Amino acid sequence: MAEGERAFTADSFYRYLTEEKKLMGVRCRSCGTLSPEPRPMCHSCHSTEMEWHEFSGKGRLSTFTCISIVPLSMAAKGYGRDNPYCTGIVTLEEGPRLSARILGVDSRNPQTIKTGIDMVLDLDDVDPDSPAPSFRPA
Ligand SMILES: [Zn+2]
Repeated sequence: MAEGERAFTADSFYRYLTEEKKLMGVRCRSCGTLSPEPRPMCHSCHSTEMEWHEFSGKGRLSTFTCISIVPLSMAAKGYGRDNPYCTGIVTLEEGPRLSARILGVDSRNPQTIKTGIDMVLDLDDVDPDSPAPSFRPA
């Protein structure tokens, strides 16, 4: 790794997300495998020749759930039985899937949310205390 390059850690991933508003994962220089989770070793061929890769931020909603029994950190933000939030799995256009917050959907009426819809990355309102990738319908 060149000097000044960021380590392939979750900390780097979240710094890209919050400070640069980028969804950065890693790409294996040996076999080309992409991962949205930064890791120092390729999970496919075990090479350690990794490099950062910026994902386009486009994808499709593969599955989701609306959560009304919320952890304390989300209750503190006003979520709960009367105000559920949505989380899901987005399949990126590059192939990998990742877990993400789903914004811009009616979490009180999950029957209105359709899997397969086009999604775009939305990092306008990332919580610096518990950063997470967020997507909304395109
Ligand atoms: Zn590889």
